[in-house]
Amino acid sequence: MDTVVVGAGPTGLVSAVALARRGHRVSLVDNDPGPTDAEHWSRRGVMQFHHPHGFRPQAVDVIRAEMPEAFDALLAHGAEPFGPEGPPAGDEVPRGSGLRCRRMVVERELRRVAESEPGLTRVRARADAVVAEEGRAAGVGLRDGSVPADLVLVATGRTAGLADGVRAPVDSIDCGIAYVSRQYRLHPGAGPARITSPIGAVALHVGYVVIVFLHDAGTFSTLIARPSTDRRLADLRHEAAWSAATAAIPLLADWTDPARSAPISPVLPGGRLHNTYRGQLDDRGRVPLPGLVFVGDSVCTTNPTAGRGVSTSLMQVEHLLALLDEGGGADPEALALAQDAWCHERIRPWFVDHLATDASQTARWAGEDVDPTRPPTSDLVVSALEADPSLMAVVGPYLSMRALPDSLAAVHPRVQEIYASGWRPPVAEGPTVDELAGLVASVVGPAAAGAPPAAPATARA
Ligand SMILES: Cc1cc2nc3c(=O)[nH]c(=O)nc-3n(C[C@H](O)[C@H](O)[C@H](O)COP(=O)(O)OP(=O)(O)OC[C@H]3O[C@@H](n4cnc5c(N)ncnc54)[C@H](O)[C@@H]3O)c2cc1C
Repeated sequence: MDTVVVGAGPTGLVSAVALARRGHRVSLVDNDPGPTDAEHWSRRGVMQFHHPHGFRPQAVDVIRAEMPEAFDALLAHGAEPFGPEGPPAGDEVPRGSGLRCRRMVVERELRRVAESEPGLTRVRARADAVVAEEGRAAGVGLRDGSVPADLVLVATGRTAGLADGVRAPVDSIDCGIAYVSRQYRLHPGAGPARITSPIGAVALHVGYVVIVFLHDAGTFSTLIARPSTDRRLADLRHEAAWSAATAAIPLLADWTDPARSAPISPVLPGGRLHNTYRGQLDDRGRVPLPGLVFVGDSVCTTNPTAGRGVSTSLMQVEHLLALLDEGGGADPEALALAQDAWCHERIRPWFVDHLATDASQTARWAGEDVDPTRPPTSDLVVSALEADPSLMAVVGPYLSMRALPDSLAAVHPRVQEIYASGWRPPVAEGPTVDELAGLVASVVGPAAAGAPPAAPATARA
C-alpha cells in the first residue's frame, strides 16, 4: 500500500518506520531540516522540543517494539531507563520501563533510523492539503506537486491545521499553566541532588510547581510551571530573573548550584498550553474522507506536567498498526471508525481528566480551598497518597496509565474523608507565587518588564 505520513515528530517517525517494515511504500513529509550537529536542532514549529520531556513506559514500549535499534542507541547515548522504583537493577531493561532522556536525543535517534529505512522516502516539504479523489483521500498536495497515496496519516502535532476543516471542531481548554525551563548538565563527577519521583523531583509551592526532569548522560531540565494568567512571572524568561528564582527555590537551588551543574541551554519560555481532543469524524459523526487518519497530538494533547503526550500519541500508533495488521487497510472507512472509537474510549478519558484537574489546580492557585463535599479531582487523589499510602493499590495503576482515570472513583470516599479531616497537601519550602513575582520584578526592573530577553551568549539547545 502507498502511504504518506505527514509530520516527522515522534508519531510520524514511528508510524512511518513501522509501516515500511510492514511492506508499505511510505513517504514521510516534513519541512524540518533536521539537527545541525549532536547538540543543535532548532526545530521551529515544535515549541516544546527543548522543554523537558519524560518518556513513560507506554511510549518506550512502542519504540522498542517497532524500532529496537533506536532504543539501543538511546541507551548507548546515556538515556536512563527507569521503573516505579527507579533504574532497573540488572543489565536487562525490563519491558514497561520509562526513559529519562532529552526529547532532542530521542527524536534524533528515531529520525536516524527512519532515514536509513528501506521503503521509506523522506520528502522535505510542507504539506498544504490532503488530496481527495472520488470521495476518498488520495495523497497530499505540496507547494510543488503532490504525493499520491492510498492511506494518508496526519501526524502534524498540536498546532498545525492540515485537513482540520473536514473534522468536527476541536474541544480545547486552556491548561492554566505556562512553562519556563532550562537544561543543565552535571559536572563530571558531580552527583544528582534530591530525587523524589521516577522522573526526577517535584515540589508543589503556593501558586506554582517546580519539576526537575532527569535526562541522558548527566543532563537534566528544571521547570517552573506558573499560572498562565500571571503575567508577572512571564519575566522569568529573563536570564537574571531565572537565576534569582532558581536560587530562591530550594529544590532548584540545589540542582543548579554552580558547583554541581552548568546550563546548556538558554532560559526557554513556553506558550499557552491547551488540553485538546479532536476525533476522526465530521460534525455529523461520519468519516469525512476514507483513507485519512489523524494520529498523535493532532488527536489529543494534555497538560504536559503529567508527561503523557508522547505516550497517548504512540498508543494511538500502536492501535492503528494493530488494525492494519488485522487487514483494516482494506476498508478505509471502517479503519477510521475503529480508530476513532478506540481513541474515544482509551485516549479521550485522559483529556477529560485534565479538564477537571487543571481547573482544580487553577482554583487552588487562586487561593480556593479544597471542597471535601465534592468528588475529588485526580490530582487531589494523588496528593492524598501522602496522607494514606494504602491508596497506592488503586492510585498506582492510574499514575502509570495502566488504569483509566475513572478507576480512582473507588477511593473517592476515603479521599474525601482525608480532606474533610482538614488535611491538605504539604507545600514545599520556598517563596510563594507573590514572593516569586516580587523577586522577579526586583531583578528585571520596570524598564525590562515585558520586554523580550537579550539574546543568550550560548544558545546550545
Ligand atoms: C511544553 C511541553 C512539554 C511536554 N512534555 C512532555 C513529556 O514530558 N512527556 C510526554 O510524553 N509528552 C510531553 N509533551 C507532549 C509531546 O511533546 C507531544 O505529545 C509530542 O510532540 C507529539 O508528537 P507528534 O509527532 O504527534 O507531534 P509533533 O512533535 O508536534 O510533530 C509534528 C511534526 O509535524 C510537522 N508538520 C506540521 N505541519 C506540517 C505540514 N503541514 N506539513 C509537513 N509537516 C508538518 C512539524 O514540523 C513536526 O515535525 C509535552 C508537550 C509540551 C507542549
